Amino acid sequence: MALIVQKYGGTSVGTTDRIKNVARRVAKHKAQGHDIVVVLSAMSGETNRLIGLAKEMQVNPDPRELDVIVSTGEQVTIGLLVMALKDIGIDAISYTGAQVKILTDSAHTKARIQHIDDANMRADLSAGKVVVVAGFQGVDPDGNITTLGRGGSDTTGVALAAALKADECQIYTDVDGVYTTDPRVVPEAKKLTTITFEEMLEMASLGSKVLQIRSVEFAGKYNVKLRVLSSFQEEGEGTLITFEEDSTVEKPVISGIAFNRDEARVNVIGVPDKPGIAYQILGPVADANIDVDMIIQNVGQDGTTDFSFTVPKGELARTIKVLEGVQSHIGGQSVSGDDKICKVSIVGVGMRSHVGVASTMFRTLAEEGINIQMISTSEIKISVVLDEKYLELAVRVLHKAFGLDRTV
Ligand code: ASP
Ligand code: MG
Repeated sequence: MALIVQKYGGTSVGTTDRIKNVARRVAKHKAQGHDIVVVLSAMSGETNRLIGLAKEMQVNPDPRELDVIVSTGEQVTIGLLVMALKDIGIDAISYTGAQVKILTDSAHTKARIQHIDDANMRADLSAGKVVVVAGFQGVDPDGNITTLGRGGSDTTGVALAAALKADECQIYTDVDGVYTTDPRVVPEAKKLTTITFEEMLEMASLGSKVLQIRSVEFAGKYNVKLRVLSSFQEEGEGTLITFEEDSTVEKPVISGIAFNRDEARVNVIGVPDKPGIAYQILGPVADANIDVDMIIQNVGQDGTTDFSFTVPKGELARTIKVLEGVQSHIGGQSVSGDDKICKVSIVGVGMRSHVGVASTMFRTLAEEGINIQMISTSEIKISVVLDEKYLELAVRVLHKAFGLDRTV
């Protein structure tokens, strides 16, 4: 007998029929003798609908009140699931984040979990009940409702699994696991049976939308055994996120290819090549609360240099405005931006022990005539910025070049 936390995403609870399906699946696991804690998202589309309502009232909705509103989506699904469970003879009880007491800080719309009170849940599990918890929400020390950021139910699931020392945290979604890349771009993409935690962290931060990145960080910190599965298939082991590399199977050097269409490139041309220039450019950008991703500074020539970096597409206009404001101070010749770019990244712990990965990547892109605008690397990933029109082509040829269509 095990203690399992099961998190079901928005599409898995998108209709009352689907919620009844979730109830049947929970009942099946319960019948196998396991203790089950279920974490739910709102019905798919519901959180967007609620945000839309809020924006009809205020262009920039008050964060505290926005949390009051958007947290209701999950409150509906937990109640419905408990009814569905009771209807098939399973005793269950629902809890909002505040009722569990998922204590967070007060950063509305992006709160962080600080403590979880497990007493109520444990008592209910001992009494044989299924515990159903609203994802995405908590309560701050003053009793205000908070939410954990979009996709935050994943983090609730992992955090509950950590607090309860669950044997496994299962994330049920509309895909049956983590793929080598997005199957909508590369139909030959293969489901991975395992992926290391480090790789998953990179994939999540590089644009693979299977798990909220914070949930992966949480799983790493607390050693939570995490599995991604389909809620629409009866069988299947999904993808297990492991903490050690499985050395019993020969795996390709690269585990996956992630991509992101949501970045824009900023160029600052002809800035003086002297100490402090990176700080003078990026300091004001950071002060404006804009996230900077890739950064490149060229080797200077004739006393000046060029400086480029990427920001979220939605922040490009604001970034340029900030830089134009400080341009005379910095002494750059021009500030420009390009939002027709994409970032493509290859990820794999195998890179540590193999040479030639970067050259394979660059040769493959060169053979297709794809120009690389920026490059950044870490120990287990290489990212390139390309013209966005090459995204599909680049992902497809790289997928093939690294043998990912042959992964099992
Ligand atoms: N319902 C929230 C959202 O749509 C949280 C979640 O589903 O994980 O972002
Ligand atoms: Mg999600």
